[in-house]
Amino acid sequence: MLCSKCNQSADALTERGLCPDCHLETEERRSEIIELAREQRQEEGVVEIDDTAQVSEGSDNGCYVAAWVWVDFADTKFDKEKGDNESQSTAQANHAPTVAVCRNGQ
Ligand SMILES: [Zn+2]
Repeated sequence: MLCSKCNQSADALTERGLCPDCHLETEERRSEIIELAREQRQEEGVVEIDDTAQVSEGSDNGCYVAAWVWVDFADTKFDKEKGDNESQSTAQANHAPTVAVCRNGQ
């Protein structure tokens, strides 16, 4: 079997058809790129990058690194705190029967 990067023959190829040497080199490069991405882009609680983040590199002088981007629910339809407050206040006014059914169901 031949390595897809250096074309050396290897007894066993790792993922993506790389020989162990190239695999190690790729992994080291990848983790250094992830470190760099964190230095440049990571903001705790806003943008976070996993150790195992995907790296997408083409011919440009840079690359994309997959990151977790925090999405704030406040004042949106997903707002959990607002939802709770609403069900509490409207439960007493309009939706008391519905809430009662829910509680019985639990
Ligand atoms: Zn190789």
